[in-house]
Amino acid sequence: MQLNHIAGNSYFLDGDNGVGVYVFSDRTCLLVDSGSSASQAKKIMTVLSEEGLQIETIFNTHAHVDHCGGNQYLQTQCQCRIIASPLAAAIIENPILGPAMLFTAYPLRVLRSRILMASPSKVDQIIGPGSLLIKNELFQIYDLPGHSLGQTGLATPDGVVFLGDSLMHPRMLQEYPFLYMVDITRQLETLAFIGSQKWPFVLLTHGGLVEDLGDCAEKNQARIAVIAQEILTLLDQRRSHEEILAAMLIQYDLSANSGQYYLVSSTIAAFISYLSEQKMIKNRVEQGVMKFYRGSFRDRKEESTGKG
Ligand SMILES: [Zn+2]
Repeated sequence: MQLNHIAGNSYFLDGDNGVGVYVFSDRTCLLVDSGSSASQAKKIMTVLSEEGLQIETIFNTHAHVDHCGGNQYLQTQCQCRIIASPLAAAIIENPILGPAMLFTAYPLRVLRSRILMASPSKVDQIIGPGSLLIKNELFQIYDLPGHSLGQTGLATPDGVVFLGDSLMHPRMLQEYPFLYMVDITRQLETLAFIGSQKWPFVLLTHGGLVEDLGDCAEKNQARIAVIAQEILTLLDQRRSHEEILAAMLIQYDLSANSGQYYLVSSTIAAFISYLSEQKMIKNRVEQGVMKFYRGSFRDRKEESTGKG
């Protein structure tokens, strides 16, 4: 792990889960996310202390384990402050909500793992979009929901923007063409917003610096359109959520351990919800199974009155 300079006082620590670093004039620093685990957090602390830097604040983009898994270790070791959006804070402080959202109830034991549940930490400051003054330096916060509920991005005073997982780097898209998302409508709004920006430096947690932001946003939008169309085509026949899920797991050759199964399941649910919101699909219970299907909305009134 190395500290790489981006611009001005903005840096990043490389690795599978890149961590943003902003250095203040007194050699304290702000981290954007904290890595995936206590052991990664320990490496972060070692590299930064070799540079004479002391962690004062962690800004969490969202509450996935690979972004807040180092929080508890760093908060204990450095007594640093943690900043997050209201929805991210709810999960950071109550990590059971992450797998509970995947399972829709108290989660299976295999989902209560370190991969899906970070150790809890305390959020000291809840933030929303707009300007944020930290130690007399002006940062900007952006709401970026879609990949997760309550995801935010942060721009440093140098104009370096850390976008968390709101975009998949084009390199990563080739390797992982099935994106994880919880809210497709909001993700498309987030991508349209990001694609319209002229930020000079943009860093993604996975994949690093983005060379062409507009092109990257377009590639993400195109991927969503392809997945939506694939699901719509499946729904020429009446299918359950689990049948759609099975078809997509096979089509994308996704390994189906329990965690992966429920992550993809959640994304399928997000697409079903989106297609329903777009009035492209309907649903009804048939012999105890909720079925989704493409169809005209002529009989919508009958269905909503229970006669359909
Ligand atoms: Zn994430």
